[in-house]
Amino acid sequence: MQKEYSGKPVFGGIAIGRITIYRRKDSVVKREKVTDVEAEVQRYHKASDEAKEQLQQLHDKALKEVGEANAAVFEVHQMMLDDLDYQESVENIIRTQNVNAEFAVATTGDNFSEMFANMDDDYMRGRAADVKDISNRVVGILSGAGASGFTATEPSILLADDLAPSETVQLDKSLVLSFVTRFGSTNSHTAILARTMNIPALIGVDFSEDDVEGHMGIVDGYEGRFIIDPDDEVLAEYQQKKAKEEEKQRLLQELKGKPNITKDGHEINVYANIGSVKDVADVLANDAGGIGLFRSEFLYLGCDDYPSEEDQFKAYKTVAENMAGKKVVIRTLDIGADKQVDYFHLDHEDNPAMGFRAIRICLKRPDIFKTQLRALYRASFYGNISIMFPMIISVDEVRKIKEIIAEVKAELDEEQLPYKDCEIGVMIETPAAVWMSEELAKEVDFFSIGTNDLTQYTLACDRQNPNLEDFADTHHPAVLREIEYTIKNGHKGGAWVGICGELGADTTLTETFLRMGVDELSVSPSRVLSVRNVIRNTDLSK
Ligand code: PEP
Ligand code: MG
Repeated sequence: MQKEYSGKPVFGGIAIGRITIYRRKDSVVKREKVTDVEAEVQRYHKASDEAKEQLQQLHDKALKEVGEANAAVFEVHQMMLDDLDYQESVENIIRTQNVNAEFAVATTGDNFSEMFANMDDDYMRGRAADVKDISNRVVGILSGAGASGFTATEPSILLADDLAPSETVQLDKSLVLSFVTRFGSTNSHTAILARTMNIPALIGVDFSEDDVEGHMGIVDGYEGRFIIDPDDEVLAEYQQKKAKEEEKQRLLQELKGKPNITKDGHEINVYANIGSVKDVADVLANDAGGIGLFRSEFLYLGCDDYPSEEDQFKAYKTVAENMAGKKVVIRTLDIGADKQVDYFHLDHEDNPAMGFRAIRICLKRPDIFKTQLRALYRASFYGNISIMFPMIISVDEVRKIKEIIAEVKAELDEEQLPYKDCEIGVMIETPAAVWMSEELAKEVDFFSIGTNDLTQYTLACDRQNPNLEDFADTHHPAVLREIEYTIKNGHKGGAWVGICGELGADTTLTETFLRMGVDELSVSPSRVLSVRNVIRNTDLSK
């Protein structure tokens, strides 16, 4: 029987396909008394063997898909499971406390991870996340939690409570037709990912999990409808709507190669936002004039340890080369807040959005920052890279950044490694940066307005909190005035000004932004042609 739920659309479009639920393993492990401790020890060893088999399969898959360097982590995980100290600890806990294997493994995982985290060596500190990971795998097998994550084998509608950025990076995106989540917010990274992938997404859908796995579903990203087991009539209606939509997309494609110019001859740049090297294909397919925001932190989210200078250099160089001389704005790492990475070992914070994140981490841990800057400057030689810094609140921060850049350049000179003198810019995403924009413009070449964070900080509305959707008015005059003020001050100081937050793609505001004098709009690749269409139909002389 047909069932229907409603939700808040975060990206339009129609998806029709089977439903798959994203299952996260329950991380709460219960401590239970056992009578037959030797049987429990055997149960642990059996689960550990099964985990090693899983890791071998993952290793072989990764070797084929992403190469040896990325596959090696699974070998390390296998070795950790064989580590005698680790095994002894699990067995001791079972035998001395008469407890279940799940509890013994989880406790050992916590203890070892803590021990690694406190070591004096970067490599060993990086192993803390690995030991947690293998322990979770064994606990999952012991508790019969089954496969975790997204187990679809055909393109499907993904249903989840919510997804963390670190989970989205691991998804096989070719198998996702749409995201439907219970929580999340319009500006959450799942929503941004949906826009990048050009697939419909709904948030705030209060679905019940009973009997939906594998069933047929329809997601209407325009009307906010999620239909399960649709009647024949409804299915036919949506198949027709989908065909019409495909036709519209085809017409938009005809705008490819045309300039972003208003009827009265005002031309601006329309660039695209990306989160990984793979997204460049979408940028090119949608004919963006450049990349206005490469969220480099996704390179850090996709692995178990700090990406090396060489790995980063390769990624930035590939993007720059593929864009063949078009502008590529790479934002330095924006970790913290909703983007947590275990191996950074950041302290728990009550209010992470206002916490130790982004440039604050980079300025306090120049080793990490310098590795990234070296990779960026080395890659700059191969294309047209600009470097941008997130979460700036003061001129002083920019001056400190420039000092570090000078050190990096001196090192590269010494090593005779070639680089270009890249443009540098700052994100304007805090009210402080808006109010300091006159002074900041004198220090940098460009501004890029991050309306996602700027809206959250200006309106005091946490962008992750689904209960605030009615308050976080993206068209709030306070935010629009800040944008206007920033553009005016940027131009006064000789800096070009773009918008790279989600608001840049809001076509109901394109004319407003053009009238304010914005120089660039950077949007999800899938929105480039719609924005171009609106610009070409705007007449600022009227
Ligand atoms: C923003 O804050 O508007 C932005 C573009 O950065 P992110 O969404 O990655 O925080
Ligand atoms: Mg931001």
